[in-house]
Amino acid sequence: MLTFTDKGIYCEPGKFYIDPWKPVDFAIITHGHADHAKWGMKNYLCHHYTVPILQSRISADISVQGIGYNEVISRNGVKISLHPAGHIIGSAQIRLEYKGKVSVVSGDYKIQEDGLSTPFEPVKCHEFVTESTFGLPIYRWQSVATQNEQLQQWVRSNQEQKKTSVFVGYSLGKAQRIMQAMQDAGPLYVHYSIGKLNLAFEQIGVRLPKYEIVDLREDVKHLDQGIVIVPPSLLESKVIKKIPHMAHAICSGWMQVRGARRWRSADAGFPISDHADWEGLIEAVKATGAEQVHVTHGQTAVFAKYLNEIGIPADEVPTEYGREEEDESPENVEVPS
Ligand SMILES: [Zn+2]
Ligand SMILES: [Zn+2]
Repeated sequence: MLTFTDKGIYCEPGKFYIDPWKPVDFAIITHGHADHAKWGMKNYLCHHYTVPILQSRISADISVQGIGYNEVISRNGVKISLHPAGHIIGSAQIRLEYKGKVSVVSGDYKIQEDGLSTPFEPVKCHEFVTESTFGLPIYRWQSVATQNEQLQQWVRSNQEQKKTSVFVGYSLGKAQRIMQAMQDAGPLYVHYSIGKLNLAFEQIGVRLPKYEIVDLREDVKHLDQGIVIVPPSLLESKVIKKIPHMAHAICSGWMQVRGARRWRSADAGFPISDHADWEGLIEAVKATGAEQVHVTHGQTAVFAKYLNEIGIPADEVPTEYGREEEDESPENVEVPS
């Protein structure tokens, strides 16, 4: 039912694309990250929660239809439904059914419950398209409770040393998870790019801890000894250095690897990810019962090879995903020599 074209993942009978990277007539979008939700589609279909994210990131004028999880709509005889992917707010696996055959495109996903995204639900299918961002056995996340405790401990030790805690995390998903972990930890400030995306959470009734929006180009003295969250794009900028008594921590799955380039200049690194770890990927693939698996972005070669070894036919398919999720991009990792 699916073909992999130079525009994106295509459903031939339905005549639509999933997360295409070139302009098409009809695009189903798994989630609001920039590498999956591109500009230029005539029509967009996504989860209700993703609608305001697309409108804020692409344009307020786009033609977009939002649907709920498990709601079924038809297009050229193909039944389409969205199922929680647990990756970020509104993230969905796309289930397609045509002439008794079921295909599922997962987009990005994680098994861990982060308390913000609707938890991942496995969907039975014949054909499954999976990501493999962290498809190496070295990637194994600690529980969310443990991760949060580690962030809080780091902040407490900074407070004792009269330092300002600066977290670096992707503005959609990661930043809000850090915010959640900082409940009652101290005065909380978020960069305005994060504040803009917080609206998508607040609109659907997610209660984030109290925070103030900051623009680092302005006066930042009042941030002293507080807690600040900024996106990774600011890491190399001059403005971040204006923050008084700064200690900064990077929150990204890549922090599990010693030798990640950005790790070295940071005061701390926390391996917290919105993607499944090695065990999570395997668990998710097995739960689908799929006869054929296509591996898109990340550690495609290793993960596809492993699946074949355990008797699940899998191949690698080229896509353009994974390039714009700043903190989750392999360019930020150096292989230790
Ligand atoms: Zn993503
Ligand atoms: Zn992705």
